[in-house]
Amino acid sequence: MRFNENIFEILYVYHSIKQAARLIVFSDRDLKELSHLLKSHRLAYAIQDYKVKVELENDKCRYTNRGLLIPLSERHGSFIVYISRHITFAERAKRLERLNNTHFGKILGYPSCCIDFYLAELKREPENHEFSIKSPWELRQYPFVNNQFLRYLDKVILSHFLCSPGCGESEEIGRERFALIERYDPDKAQTLRQELSSLVIYTKNDGLLYTPDYSLSADGVIGYENLKSTEKDTDLSMHFKRNNSIRAKSYCTFEAGGRLFEGGEALVAMFR
Ligand SMILES: [Zn+2]
Repeated sequence: MRFNENIFEILYVYHSIKQAARLIVFSDRDLKELSHLLKSHRLAYAIQDYKVKVELENDKCRYTNRGLLIPLSERHGSFIVYISRHITFAERAKRLERLNNTHFGKILGYPSCCIDFYLAELKREPENHEFSIKSPWELRQYPFVNNQFLRYLDKVILSHFLCSPGCGESEEIGRERFALIERYDPDKAQTLRQELSSLVIYTKNDGLLYTPDYSLSADGVIGYENLKSTEKDTDLSMHFKRNNSIRAKSYCTFEAGGRLFEGGEALVAMFR
């Protein structure tokens, strides 16, 4: 299966550090592979009665993935699969997601601060069923286990909506999970840690740029090199690649290579 995040979630449930998990599965083929894997590890699963279609969106100083619910019969979109050691919990998670209440987050092991945050967001934007990072965040280095920006590159430890990139309870859960990944595959864990400990430049239309080779000085100057991009290079990504420092006032107001960024065309986040 190409989706690491799912493998990690399976690992957490298998080792009972999570009672149930919610997986996003891209295709029929992946679903088949997943069901085989789960059966061979004696894990139970339930498939949701609808699919989700995830769209990337950057609305001003906010980082969002919008998830639209579509019928199971649609060719596009992804399956939502709940897994657990016991079918009761998988079925319960499936049922609870439709009710969208605190119990759903609890069964999936989310911290209560993040559950409250998610429910408040859902009230504000009822049609959105996927992940978002709410602004504002501060100009500082957050714990690498809380880095969710690289999620769609399959590099992520926590799967829930974080109430903030500095959420302490999430960090604790993240570190416990990271220790488990480390036990299983020290090399993979090391690479993951390195990549999550990155400077991330999130752009509105030009994808993500990121690099673990960066430093932050006390006066808000971020020096960096070896930027990688998730999409084909554009004028904007080349602009960041040609330069090697950002002078930042906040995560969404900064100067790079003589050009001022404000109002969300690009955002910076840092993890260590
Ligand atoms: Zn939280």
